[in-house]
Amino acid sequence: MGYIKGTITKGVGGFYYVACGDIIYECRARGIFRKDGITPLVGDEVDITVDDAVNLRGTVDNIHPRKNVLLRPPVANVSQVAVIIAAASPAPNFLTVDKLIAAAELAGIEILICVNKTDVADSKAASIAEIYEKAGFPVVSVSAETRDNIDALTSHLVGKITVFAGNSGVGKSSILNLILGGDVMRVGAVSEKISRGRHTTRHSELLRLPTNPRPAGTPFREGGSGGFVIDTPGFSAFELDTVKCEDVAELFREFEKYGGMCKFTGCAHVKDKGCAIVEAVGRGEIAQSRHESYVAIYENAKKVKDWERL
Ligand code: GDP
Ligand code: ZN
Repeated sequence: MGYIKGTITKGVGGFYYVACGDIIYECRARGIFRKDGITPLVGDEVDITVDDAVNLRGTVDNIHPRKNVLLRPPVANVSQVAVIIAAASPAPNFLTVDKLIAAAELAGIEILICVNKTDVADSKAASIAEIYEKAGFPVVSVSAETRDNIDALTSHLVGKITVFAGNSGVGKSSILNLILGGDVMRVGAVSEKISRGRHTTRHSELLRLPTNPRPAGTPFREGGSGGFVIDTPGFSAFELDTVKCEDVAELFREFEKYGGMCKFTGCAHVKDKGCAIVEAVGRGEIAQSRHESYVAIYENAKKVKDWERL
């Protein structure tokens, strides 16, 4: 019997749960992986053989080459980070947001900006959206409270593996619950999140976007693989600590068109004379907050000695 292709959604106690279209098979990994020191990861695209079509059991035979691997959460082939920003309560922390974006750029992962809580601060939401649209990111503004524009957000998740990121309280759990149509995440579970701490060992799971009912006009693929979201909003910016200061500018995509236009080669784009980036900020072409985040990340990277890098 031939292979069928699927995606590992969960790994528990030596079993891997592989989504093949609408069906999830409980699989063991072939022994050869252990011998080769390869551990299948959530997010892996795999070929399986079905050993028991009635009880939906199978064996993972091949792991396709990974596009990327995140360490926190430990997931392969993440295609997108959805950075959630609350328009208000809590007030946006632009440095946190821009660090998350820079870390995603570093990892080569697509970025989607989602401004939440438009119901409480619509004009603030609009000005946040403008900052990130101007910088060249796709932006959706939603309200998890009123469900406004949630369909537009869902349409950005089709066919992708998306991890949610953002400060506590911005509405990640609320949005995930709406998208997945159930109480998957505990809303407002701040104290629990803090007590679990940063180095949580909780395993991540890919949750399939429901294909039925599908949002109007959303081009879900046949076979039910409408896309996945990762249940742990754990994407963090810690990998930014490996970046050298001279490489930070590359992580700000709106700086690119000013490349080579600074007066001095090796310009740090901080407050230098004849700096094309600083001038663009002055003309309002680059958002002040984005430049401030750049400077903070740059200065931090400058302080880190080479031998201290990971
Ligand atoms: P998380 O920490 O990012 O997962 O955020 P939660 O989903 O737990 O939400 C934090 C708080 O904000 C909860 O009290 C939610 O009910 C509330 N909240 C989430 N989304 C919205 C929204 O769009 N509008 C309003 N007014 N409140 C929201
Ligand atoms: Zn410059």
